[in-house]
Amino acid sequence: MTEMVKSMKLPIYLDYQATTPMDPRVLEAMLPYYKEYFGNAASRHHPFGLKAKQAVEDARAKIASFINAEDPEEIIFTSGATESNNFAIRGIAEMYREKGNHMITVATEHKSVLSVCQHLEEKGFKVTYLPVDREGLINLCELKTAITGNTILISVMHANNEIGVIQPIAEIGEMAKAAGIFFHCDAVQSAGKIPFDVRAAGIHLASISAHKMYGPKGIGALYVRKQNPRVRLAPLVYGGGQEMNLRGGTLNVPAIVGFGEAVRIAKTEMAEEAKRVLGLRTELHSMICKGLDCVDLHGSLEKRLPGNLNVSFEFIEGELLFKLINQELAVSSGSACSSTSLEPSYVLKALGVRESLIHTSVRFSLGRFTTSEEIDYAANKIVSVVQELREKSPFYKK
Ligand code: PMP
Repeated sequence: MTEMVKSMKLPIYLDYQATTPMDPRVLEAMLPYYKEYFGNAASRHHPFGLKAKQAVEDARAKIASFINAEDPEEIIFTSGATESNNFAIRGIAEMYREKGNHMITVATEHKSVLSVCQHLEEKGFKVTYLPVDREGLINLCELKTAITGNTILISVMHANNEIGVIQPIAEIGEMAKAAGIFFHCDAVQSAGKIPFDVRAAGIHLASISAHKMYGPKGIGALYVRKQNPRVRLAPLVYGGGQEMNLRGGTLNVPAIVGFGEAVRIAKTEMAEEAKRVLGLRTELHSMICKGLDCVDLHGSLEKRLPGNLNVSFEFIEGELLFKLINQELAVSSGSACSSTSLEPSYVLKALGVRESLIHTSVRFSLGRFTTSEEIDYAANKIVSVVQELREKSPFYKK
């Protein structure tokens, strides 16, 4: 153990679902676009602009092909998935209001979806928030019955950011198609980790973000289908006509180049990486379960991202647990700290997890640079801290 600690850098990063470190190859690809190729992609009359424009279009084509879009012009660059989610949902609401005022989403979506829906409710829209079962999955029959003549959009994420659970998007796409409704999918957590194919899943709009796939922060994309059917969106930013007149503003060329490189790497390495990460996740889970009893896993184990493990430890206090581990393990907790209180995760609540357990939940998220030494260390650390806390607990009996 001591030898291992010497060769390993602490704290260990196990929070890949919050953000990923940038792959060094991505940074390499970006650097020239900060230095010699600094042109504005909208400057069409000199080589500086043309070089920048070419780089943007190369990245756009790579991203389109990565998610199996038909046409690179279906990719609109944004600042990230929060913006993409806002853009998709508000853009549809504004454009198709005449057609209907009802949308369907899920209780466990990311806040950037839920907050827009709440905003639209204040503007007179009706939103159905589908529940999930204990596994974190929606019920397709419930989705079907929620569809009304007024429904214009279904927004369901591919993989959840807290529990990694993967929703049945192909079935949802089929249902949306049959009902003539648009389907928006937040694919931030899945793109680059597991296959994500907009055409196979019948998706009309999809949000992705570079910093969840080893690219830079502050760059994302919205896929907007152009044909069968053509999706029309209200513009997000009025300006100089960039991004098909939907989002004006000078493009962040280095970030876009980085996004393209991140996608190129994901395309070639994703399958192998997923296998390796799943192996590490399985090892972490089994070491924890070998060392401790009363460990609860949240969300389906089968329909889950390879890199996610979300578990609670009974008979301890979450705050103490985090105090004892957070100098060594960078993980995420099921309680989000607001300035005055510890808010228990609404995602775990939606699964029916009781509040005391939510406070002891830990999200481990593993990725490209996670090593088996780190996993051994993290598992041993968690086991010993939980054992220590339980020894002091009056409620815990072996
Ligand atoms: N959706 C999901 C599922 C996410 O996990 C995140 C990032 N936490 C977002 C949307 C927002 O992405 P961004 O950070 O690019 O704004």
